[in-house]
Amino acid sequence: MENGALSPDRIARIRAGLRQWFAENARDLPWRRTRDPYAILVSEVMLQQTQVDRVLPYYERFLQCFPTVAALAAAPTAEVIRLWSGLGYNRRAVNLQRAAKAVVDEHGGEFPADPAILRTLPGIGAYTAGAVAAFAFERDVAFLDTNMRRVVNRVVFGADPAPEAKVLEAAQALVPPGEGWAWNQALIEFGALQCTARRPACVVCPLQSECAAFPVVQTVLAANAKAIRPSSSAPFEQTSRYFRGRIVEALRGLPAHDESGIDLSQLGPQVREGFSAADLPWLRGLVDGLQRDGLAVIAEESPPYEAGEDATLSRTRVRLP
Ligand code: SF4
Repeated sequence: MENGALSPDRIARIRAGLRQWFAENARDLPWRRTRDPYAILVSEVMLQQTQVDRVLPYYERFLQCFPTVAALAAAPTAEVIRLWSGLGYNRRAVNLQRAAKAVVDEHGGEFPADPAILRTLPGIGAYTAGAVAAFAFERDVAFLDTNMRRVVNRVVFGADPAPEAKVLEAAQALVPPGEGWAWNQALIEFGALQCTARRPACVVCPLQSECAAFPVVQTVLAANAKAIRPSSSAPFEQTSRYFRGRIVEALRGLPAHDESGIDLSQLGPQVREGFSAADLPWLRGLVDGLQRDGLAVIAEESPPYEAGEDATLSRTRVRLP
């Protein structure tokens, strides 16, 4: 198999193989039963960095609470963050609502179908714009998340990573005209179930004879696994992301309509074991970051905060937006 070469015959064989595989293996997922761009966007944002099984109950619940883009745009941000509780990466909730507000304010409540315009919405990158264009508006566009990139890379270019632009060009060439929806769904499913990162099922793969990575991908993966050394990075429980999550979790626990918030000195012990006044500047730094990301609000500062003054810091109160 010549790496990178995509003749019309080869394209046809790859398309036929993947179509057949998808017909036999596609999961019945709720976002595959709708063409509502708002519901598609909700599913795509939730599926970023989160497994399908975990997303399913959140997706249903979210659409029950906020059934339309207008409902989400008008909701209190604190309510949106509360509903996101447990799904992780809370910034996604805030960005999703920002995108909903932009659709309402700048597009009259109607989602644009053009991926270039979708990309102008807050928090919407190339992948999500392509996904909404393909899955809501059935556009014949190519877009790549990690799984899709891996599949196209392996099949067309081999086991070693090819330049992003080349992979995207190949992905676009493979989209069958008029089948943007089904093709991209198939590519995502194939990457999730068949051509996985660490254990691709090459032996029973319908694309085996077309795949530029077969059979070397197995050797490369085995060599990579051997080369992996124990990581020296800090455990997750010591990272800023972990503590940011703990702060948002504590703020979610505050009474829903109480806007007075919680004092940093009371919040600290809920966030970090052994919290002391010396940790207040650290906590304040995290809260400032959350405020910048739209996940928290400094409800009260009296007198105004000055860095390094513990007494002042302890009078800072914070709440959900
Ligand atoms: S042969 Fe293996 S690497 Fe190639 S597409 Fe199939 S599962 Fe992926």
